[in-house]
Amino acid sequence: MDTLVEISVYSADRPKALEAVKQAFLEIERIEKIFSRFDKDSEISRVNTLAGIKETKLSSELFGLIKDSLYYSQISEGAFDITAAPLVDVWAIARRDGVVPDSKTIESTLEYVGYKNIKLDGERSSVHFLDKRTRLDFGGIAKGYAVDRTKETLLSHGIKNALINIGGNIFALGSPPGRKAWRIGIQHPRYKNKIIFKLNLKNRAAATSGDYERFFTLDKKRFSHIINPLDGWPVQDVMSVTVVAATAEAADALSTAFFVTGAENSQTLIRSFDDIEVFMFDKESRFIKYP
Ligand code: AMP
Ligand code: MG
Repeated sequence: MDTLVEISVYSADRPKALEAVKQAFLEIERIEKIFSRFDKDSEISRVNTLAGIKETKLSSELFGLIKDSLYYSQISEGAFDITAAPLVDVWAIARRDGVVPDSKTIESTLEYVGYKNIKLDGERSSVHFLDKRTRLDFGGIAKGYAVDRTKETLLSHGIKNALINIGGNIFALGSPPGRKAWRIGIQHPRYKNKIIFKLNLKNRAAATSGDYERFFTLDKKRFSHIINPLDGWPVQDVMSVTVVAATAEAADALSTAFFVTGAENSQTLIRSFDDIEVFMFDKESRFIKYP
């Protein structure tokens, strides 16, 4: 998944714990083989090659994650969008070459970016892209999904207290012995060692989207790895967003979505959920907390 994976487990039975962790890592590898668009043998690579040309059958797992992704696109009015891949690639080239893409390149790429290009057929479990150039990328949601699946793997191996962390996508299962919850620090986006807030998590998920782990600078400006699919530019309105939610998938998708919609414009969407918490650093380093 191109990031650090940590699994911490408490158990009185060491062999059982080791086996559970081993199976958990196998589960993450299994998921990566479906969702990595950089692996040419993955299911998503096959879909990205075919679905622009013809209706393409999906495994139930890929169908499910596309469906969930479309839900997050709809509620965020396109801020979260798994068709942003071609824009991500345009900016990856910009980063490699050290030149900001020209507006013509961005405009022509925007023609085939947009979740409305995805036609999902529930009865036939298939997908078809309305534009043959459309591509899917699960970078904004797959880690959270993998965290949720990993949690299920641990549970099925009898583990009740664990912390799973895939690149800042966390699920806190149960709590450490003698404690009420797992304590997770939210770091300052500019001062790594400065912990601004401590979360108490028990059977809850958290995810952070920030501009400080993955970013690049061009013309002395900092560009994040998250792209606004509506204008094609890397988002610069906030420094970091942490979302606490019931599932790691929701936390992952929503943190990416709020990163795009920004401190001001996220408020209505945030308030439409009654079971999430949101922590943001806006571009002036102001810490904003909801509720
Ligand atoms: P995250 O770190 O979870 O916020 O996800 C960022 C990753 O999701 C990027 O590296 C891209 O692969 C992808 N991505 C970029 N912009 C978007 C977007 N607006 N919606 C969905 N995924 C995106
Ligand atoms: Mg995300």
